Order: sequence, then C-alpha cells, then structure tokens
Amino acid sequence: MEKPFDRLKKDLRNLAKAGAKMVNLDVPEVQEKPIIAEPVAEAPVTPAQPAKKAKKKDNIPVNIYRPKSPYVGKCLSNEGLVREGGEGRVQHLTFDLSEGDLRYIEGQSIGIIPAGTDANGKPHKLRLYSIASTRHGDRVDDKTISLCVRQLEYDHPETGERVYGVCSKYLCDMQTGDDVKITGPVGKEMLLPDDPEANIIMMGTGTGIAPFRAYLWRMFKEKHENYKFKGLAWLFFGVAYTPNILYKQELEELQSQYPDNFRLTYAISREQKAADGSKMYIQSRIAEHADELWNLVQKENTHTYICGLKGMEGGIDEGMSAAAAKHGVDWSEYQRTLKKAHRWHVETY
Ligand SMILES: Cc1cc2nc3c(=O)[nH]c(=O)nc-3n(C[C@H](O)[C@H](O)[C@H](O)COP(=O)(O)OP(=O)(O)OC[C@H]3O[C@@H](n4cnc5c(N)ncnc54)[C@H](O)[C@@H]3O)c2cc1C
Repeated sequence: MEKPFDRLKKDLRNLAKAGAKMVNLDVPEVQEKPIIAEPVAEAPVTPAQPAKKAKKKDNIPVNIYRPKSPYVGKCLSNEGLVREGGEGRVQHLTFDLSEGDLRYIEGQSIGIIPAGTDANGKPHKLRLYSIASTRHGDRVDDKTISLCVRQLEYDHPETGERVYGVCSKYLCDMQTGDDVKITGPVGKEMLLPDDPEANIIMMGTGTGIAPFRAYLWRMFKEKHENYKFKGLAWLFFGVAYTPNILYKQELEELQSQYPDNFRLTYAISREQKAADGSKMYIQSRIAEHADELWNLVQKENTHTYICGLKGMEGGIDEGMSAAAAKHGVDWSEYQRTLKKAHRWHVETY
C-alpha cells in the first residue's frame, strides 16, 4: 500500500508540474464584503480558487507604520484575564485605530513602543505582540485592535530583586484614554487559508491563544458573505491552572454552539495528569489523540498552527513523532514537507 508520505510527495510533484501553488495561503483583500448581522442561507459549496486566480500574498498589509513615525492610538479598555487562583497577570487590551490607516488581518502582529527611555536615555525599542482580534476588531467596526499581554516578571538571578518587563508592564498598567505608539502590522507566517473547508489545528500555550482567538472569531462569531467556515477547528490550549485559561467563557460558548466544527482540548499542567502520571502538557494531549491528529494532518486542507512559549515545539514534535511512527513515517521528514506546503505554521517567543 502506498504510504501517506509518498502520496503527499507525489501530489506535490504533480501539482508543481501542473504549475499550481500547493496551498493557497493568500487572504482576501482587507476591503472584504461587509459583515452581515444575521446568518444567511448557505451558499453552494464552491471549490477553492485555483492558485492562478488567487490574490497575491502582497496584498497583506505590512509595515504601514514604522518605528520612526508610529501610529498613536488610544487605549479603549484594559481587562484582566487571569481569574482568582491563577498565576501571573495577563491583560486583554483594546486600542482605537479610527484616526489612522492601520489595518491588519488575523494572525499578524504589531509593534508597541513603550513610553520613556532605556538605561542609555534612548527611546525604547519596539516589542511585538500577536493580534488577538480579527481585522474587524472586537467592536466589529473595523476601528480597533486587541492584544493579549502577559506581564513579564522574574527574580533577578544575582540580586534576587523582582524585575518587570518594560513593555509588558507598560501595557498591563495602561489606563483607558492613554496614548499608545503602534507599528506594523507584520507577519505572514500565521495567516489563515482562504478555504472555509480547511481544517485548522491550533496548539497554544498562555498568550499564544491570541491569534487563535482571532481565527475563532472569524470562523464562528462574525458572519461573512465570503468566508463561512465549514472545516474542523481544533484548539489544544495549555495553561498552568484553570483560572489561567484565557478567554475561557468565549471558548466554551463557541464549543457549545459549534460542537461539530470546534473542538477544545485543554492541557492544565498543574492540575491534570497524563496517562503516565506526569504533568499534563500539550504533548500528552497529542499523544492521547495521536491517531486522529495523524489522520488530520495528512489531509491536504489541514493547517497546523503553533503559538506561545518557545520550547513548546519540542513536546509537540515528540507527540507527532510517536503518532507518525505508528504508521512507519519519519515525522521530521514529513514535517519538512508540511512546512514546504505552508501547512505547518509556528510562531513562538
Ligand atoms: C512574534 C511575537 C509575538 C509575540 N506576541 C506576544 C503576545 O501576544 N503576548 C505577550 O505577552 N507577549 C508576546 N510576545 C513577547 C513580547 O514581544 C515581549 O518579548 C514580552 O512582552 C517581554 O517584553 P518586555 O519589554 O516586557 O520585557 P523586557 O524588558 O524586554 O525584558 C525581557 C528580557 O528579560 C530577561 N528575562 C526574561 N525572563 C527572565 C528570567 N526568568 N530570568 C532572567 N532574565 C529574564 C531577558 O533578558 C529578556 O530578554 C511576542 C513576541 C514575538 C516575537
């Protein structure tokens, strides 16, 4: 029997010969049709646009605002996301974009330049943050952008003194009405495919949920004429404690409203135990669902996205290696093919 990996390689070769681009990651122009308030009757299923008709990746907005002349927006809201009993501080911030030209799409990031100067008296450098809202913003009026920011804090290794991250503290402390300097947007790695029938596997830890929240809003909360999600979205979300499950209510509401199209799998490391008694991390969940995941990733219309803390990839690879090995496939080789086909997307920090 032909091995799945060989089949994928063969398909890639045939498509390349036919002059096709393997995967259409191109996104619609930002001026898409307006969102409609109520769901409309389902349009007939149309096949994905052939690559030659697809819009160019160049249409993706990048660097509209640069560090020398950033957009200055206002903070509209700043809400805590960690509930009682959770660890650390994570805030959901929304900024007003109505005075400028900043636009963005799901999966991109923006730069924030913290107020003040560094130890050398120079302006602070920008820090990147994944955008947690869709292009239409949390108020669905195309005029806002939202972030999910964890305040960095640690004890200085030599002095033992508590240290706070410059930009993350600046953002977490921000008051409604404060100015904020924004650059970007940047990033083409984490964009969603146009295909509303694609399967989207998301693996995130902590603030890595940010782009996934944007995807889920686009798929399920907003109603679009040109994007009606009909695939499977499967989120693996790793946190330390239950009160650290960011956007818990939103996520669970979506799961109960769209049980056939959205699966939500938590890995709560300090509370749950994996089958072998170890702490429950995302890789343990991958191991639990190895066969299903393996079947899914082989599908030509499945995209996998990884976002969150650096270091989480190792565990995911371990889990996927075990899943692939069951079918006699070498994961790292298979993963290379997926990356080449733009179906394996990673943004860790
Ligand atoms: C593409 C991208 C997307 C991102 N998205 C998000 C996001 O959505 N949400 C989010 O919260 N962050 C995100 N980040 C991280 C963000 O850019 C900042 O790096 C983070 O907020 C810390 O910046 P800071 O100014 O607060 O810390 P800084 O003041 O810059 O301090 C960071 C420095 O502190 C030191 N340090 C950190 N931890 C320790 C430790 N335990 N012991 C000793 N020294 C230490 C290191 O030298 C480190 O370089 C993203 C990063 C990238 C690249």
